[in-house]
Amino acid sequence: MAYLPNPARYDTLEYRRCGRSGLRLPAISLGLWQNFGEKDTLGNCRTLLRTAFDAGITHFDLANNYGPPPGAAEETFGRLYKDDFRAHRDELIISTKAGYGMWPGPYGDGGSRKYLVASLDQSLRRTGLDYVDIYYHHRPDPNTPLEESMGALDALVRQGKALYVGLSNYPAAEARRACAILRELGTPCLIHQPKYSMLVRTPEEGLLEVLAEEGVGCIAFSSLAQGVLTDKYLQGVPSDSRAARQLGNGAIEEGQLSPANIEKARQLNDLAGERGQTLAQMALAWVLRDPRMTSVIIGASKPQQITDAVRCLDAPRFGDEELGRIEAILAGKT
Ligand code: NDP
Repeated sequence: MAYLPNPARYDTLEYRRCGRSGLRLPAISLGLWQNFGEKDTLGNCRTLLRTAFDAGITHFDLANNYGPPPGAAEETFGRLYKDDFRAHRDELIISTKAGYGMWPGPYGDGGSRKYLVASLDQSLRRTGLDYVDIYYHHRPDPNTPLEESMGALDALVRQGKALYVGLSNYPAAEARRACAILRELGTPCLIHQPKYSMLVRTPEEGLLEVLAEEGVGCIAFSSLAQGVLTDKYLQGVPSDSRAARQLGNGAIEEGQLSPANIEKARQLNDLAGERGQTLAQMALAWVLRDPRMTSVIIGASKPQQITDAVRCLDAPRFGDEELGRIEAILAGKT
């Protein structure tokens, strides 16, 4: 049946300005790293994308290697885009990335101009898009001069294949250098995509300051720690959970569910209950408490996870006492 999006889709979610750019992103974005590969049913993928768009999520995050196998998530997205979203192209911000191993030989990995240009052409073919909104270098490459990688991003914008460019997984000092090169080239860096959650605080060690100074937005990934910062693992490991499915490619495994983190999740879950939220909602709201954060990219295997996430800012802002209690739980001092 033809997809008719919810007419009230822009009524609830907050849209935040991305750094000093003119672009606003939804506070919650949807990532296609997991659950959009060959093993996943097209019907569920369709439901997830429709649920997100109906809830006001205008930003879908891809990468060349998302699947499995690599490329499959872009192909899945391309099929659904053709069916459901083509008429809404100008309402969507689609990102993709290159930087991890994608094809054999010396040109399918890293940060060379050869790789970044060829990979975006492949991504456009798989998705059926004429251009992406944001093209990222997925990780720094110590074997390529930053000038070459940033020069490739700038060239792709000038060719009309990307509207904006971004960095992912770049440490603070390299991000600052990359931003300076991009500014010099006339293609300012739009956004940085780091891992950031209650359990992974690295961006607080300098990166967020650099991004604020440079006027660059910040969009966090794995802010639910792949499900650990939800109530999902409090009573064991459900058979349909990511940890049970042995997905590989960086997906969390059962052995990585440490008892210490599960105990923290249990205490955080109680605190979230006091705030009238689910733990997932509180974990997302906690990342978004910092005004330097533009958005959080969630992953989802079920539509309810999306509808749950977009309500994360409904509860009152965190008070100092609550933030202190969260720090104490995270430090294991309770
Ligand atoms: P999350 O930390 O949001 O984990 C998502 C998973 O948590 C879901 O698939 C689901 O797993 C579980 N979950 C979500 N909501 C709930 C809920 N309400 N209750 C219970 N369980 C829930 O993020 P991801 O690690 O998936 O990353 C999100 C996106 O970030 C990716 O899709 C990608 O776009 C981006 N990313 C970028 C990286 C980079 O290097 N730039 C690296 C990794 C991710 P389950 O299957 O168990 O239901």
